[in-house]
Amino acid sequence: MRSLSIFGATGSIGESTFDLVMRQGGPDAFRTVALTGARNVTRLAEMARALKAELAVTAHEDCLPALREALAGTWTEVAAGPQAIAEAADRPADWTMSAIVGAAGLVPGMRALKHGRTLALANKESLVTAGPLLMATAAAHGATILPVDSEHSAVFQALAGEDASAVERVIITASGGPFRDWTLEQIRDCTVAQAMAHPNWSMGQRISIDSASMFNKALELIETREFFGFAPEMIEAVVHPQSIVHALVGFCDGGVMAHLGPADMRHAIGFALNWPGRGDVPVARIDLAQIASLTFQKPDEERFPALRLAREVMAARGLSGAAFNAAKEIALDHFIAGNIGFLDMAAVVEDALASVSGCETFGKLPRTLEDVLSMDHLARKAADTAAGLRQQKR
Ligand code: NDP
Ligand code: MG
Repeated sequence: MRSLSIFGATGSIGESTFDLVMRQGGPDAFRTVALTGARNVTRLAEMARALKAELAVTAHEDCLPALREALAGTWTEVAAGPQAIAEAADRPADWTMSAIVGAAGLVPGMRALKHGRTLALANKESLVTAGPLLMATAAAHGATILPVDSEHSAVFQALAGEDASAVERVIITASGGPFRDWTLEQIRDCTVAQAMAHPNWSMGQRISIDSASMFNKALELIETREFFGFAPEMIEAVVHPQSIVHALVGFCDGGVMAHLGPADMRHAIGFALNWPGRGDVPVARIDLAQIASLTFQKPDEERFPALRLAREVMAARGLSGAAFNAAKEIALDHFIAGNIGFLDMAAVVEDALASVSGCETFGKLPRTLEDVLSMDHLARKAADTAAGLRQQKR
């Protein structure tokens, strides 16, 4: 029986993973080693009961009593706190889903890789903040990382059986989000609710807003660079409002392989769950005649400066990805809290990057997790200061 763990089980990706695992036999087909969540302990306990999980962990100590009560009378152990989540990753599982949101997903993912098994990676922040370290850890322990982000799953699928040295370019698509056709002035005054209203995908709050600002695409450009190892100038993003084509890979003979799929993350999750084979996944099938047209346009870096910042980060590499992601997370917190405007997010990230770029370690590739975490910490402080200044100006 295959064993599995799901980190971030109660989130959008976690729910879709749980759904597929249940459809593929649930506890009759899988031994569930660990499930983790944060605030939503009621749902975490329901999932743990349904999968007969050996361990359920919440990220927050104050949620532990509720989790313990919800799982009373079951054989599921309970625990709380970031350390307990990291320790849950020390328990070997054949297949681990990394779907915690933000930099908090890095440590458990790194620790799961040490078992030399399979990590299904939705947490793109791990690759952005610590790509070289993550890939080296996987290689050192003979572990496999399978990308779950839809664009990266698409590139992975388009590359199957191909010689990577024949690749000329990789194009990932962006829906353009809710503000694709808005003017700069309209975007400046948008609300959190408007930023969350993604036209094609149903996702967690943070990634939905990151999609509206194109910070999500910025992270994904860096993720492409770190996961596949292609040079930055080979990687581009194109706006494709229908979200049917997820990525394209161009080869040296002029051929281009495009990956098409429904805008439903269960395709990419199901691909990772059933890899190296394919399993039946209950997503809508694409009807091209009904869709009628697939359109593409160049992204506008003036309205969406996150893309320009991503290019700068890809060029600088080193610990700039860790700084970029951390600053972005703080800027997003301030936008959600109503302290700064939507366009201030990119300005805060740019200010924070400028502030930490003088730091001696900025341009150096991370050698240890501590390198990454200390840059993350510095950039969070710098972004917090930058956001405070912007807030005063409003
Ligand atoms: P959600 O916000 O829906 O879920 C996040 C999960 O992480 C929840 O289980 C949440 O617990 C938990 N969590 C939140 N904060 C912490 C913390 N500090 N420590 C530990 N656990 C925590 O996110 P998504 O599912 O949308 O995204 C998850 C990851 O997948 C992100 O990295 C995202 O970029 C990536 N991704 C998501 C896609 C999508 O379609 N949603 C597509 C591609 C990639 P709780 O809910 O109990 O509070
Ligand atoms: Mg994506």
